[in-house]
Amino acid sequence: MADITVGRPLGIETRIHWSFWLLPALVLAAGWIGGNTIMAIVDTVIVLAIFSCVALHEFGHALAARAYGIRTRDVVLYPIGGIARLERIPHQPGAEIAIALAGPAVNFAIVLMLFPLMVANGFGITHLTGEASLNEYFWTRLLWGNVVLCLFNLIPAFPMDGGRVLRALLAIRLSRHAATDIAVSIGTGFAVIFGVGAVLGYFSPTLLLLAVVLYMTGQSELQAVREEIDRRTYRGSIFGRRLDPVPVAHHADGWEYDAQSRQWTYWLHGHPVNRFMAR
Ligand SMILES: [Zn+2]
Repeated sequence: MADITVGRPLGIETRIHWSFWLLPALVLAAGWIGGNTIMAIVDTVIVLAIFSCVALHEFGHALAARAYGIRTRDVVLYPIGGIARLERIPHQPGAEIAIALAGPAVNFAIVLMLFPLMVANGFGITHLTGEASLNEYFWTRLLWGNVVLCLFNLIPAFPMDGGRVLRALLAIRLSRHAATDIAVSIGTGFAVIFGVGAVLGYFSPTLLLLAVVLYMTGQSELQAVREEIDRRTYRGSIFGRRLDPVPVAHHADGWEYDAQSRQWTYWLHGHPVNRFMAR
């Protein structure tokens, strides 16, 4: 099975992963087995509508990234959510926070738009009575779907949006490596909670899958940051700039400026691995 390319809105290739269709198929099958064909179709349409909002969420990330000069390779929809693959993750905490928050902000904006329209139409917002019309049922589900999309993504479980905000906040004070390390540890904790909850609480294959994906992408992102640092160390050392074989204890990782010698030095694990003169 192949992915379906929806198009290139705003110049960003948007695809539906082949596995995405498992989700609406499951919802449709569950409703049909339950005996209510109309509701099965309505619930399937709601899933598709919510995933349109997931796509808009991803475009929020992509457009915020564009504002920082970062291109987006593509936006792909999976059964557990969407991913906007950015060409790079900005290292400035402010930019990373803005890009991470742009996704949930889109869902918040949708809620802000839907809410007054629903109130004006006299729709039930917090509860659905037995005699709710299909129209009311659809819009209420879509509203709450967006509330959940906004809040759930803000959980500080790296690499979800909230976890990226957390990593960026930590990186203001710590090295990027240390910040990623802590954020990934917290994200792994959430992955375990999601996984246990999905098995022992009410069984949710989606949540279980999300727990696995969170754990795996967290680990690979940590690996990427490590490799980035290794590359920098290597680049520093091939020019023979590994000046001190004995590490200088308690030296914080990162760039440091020495006003007297007018030199920038990059410190890593107590070693000056790269150095250049300021003009
Ligand atoms: Zn997001």
